[in-house]
Amino acid sequence: MNKVKQIPGACPECGRGQLVSFTRDEDFDFDLGDERVAVQARNVPVEKCDTCGEIMSGPAAARVRHDAICRAVGLLTPSEIKAIREKFGWSQQHLAALTDFGIATVSRWERGRLLQNRSANKVLLGLRDCPAFRAYLESLVEPKGSLPSPQAEEPINRLKGRYVDKERVPSVVAFAAVFEFSRN
Ligand SMILES: [Zn+2]
Repeated sequence: MNKVKQIPGACPECGRGQLVSFTRDEDFDFDLGDERVAVQARNVPVEKCDTCGEIMSGPAAARVRHDAICRAVGLLTPSEIKAIREKFGWSQQHLAALTDFGIATVSRWERGRLLQNRSANKVLLGLRDCPAFRAYLESLVEPKGSLPSPQAEEPINRLKGRYVDKERVPSVVAFAAVFEFSRN
């Protein structure tokens, strides 16, 4: 426990003492529903009243605990998620469009307000590590305002009904399939 600085202002608990900032290590269990994971959070920034002894923590502590939970559970941390997005120059909106995770969800992940589940984590890892997966999801995003031309529309619609059970058809795959289709 090492004291860092004196915070001006009285303790909200007793109204008399001064709040002193320090960092501490915290060990706790995190309940994932079907498993409990032992978490070791290091250097959690908290404040302690020098008079009543009340310990308080805010958003900075929550972020450190959240990162520790992510590492203990084996999930990407908020800054790692943000780094994936920034590496490819994507807005939160674009990542939401690629994955169909809502933009509010993406934002909560990046602020450490929400822990992504394992399947969402896998999609994020796929985007980070697999160029083909990235290109595939990019191909599924329909550019705004560009409707298929009338000539292209008809065979693709037929194709959807006959071969493809997905709502959206990647253009490259659709083109190749239409080409095959029209030769036969
Ligand atoms: Zn106090």
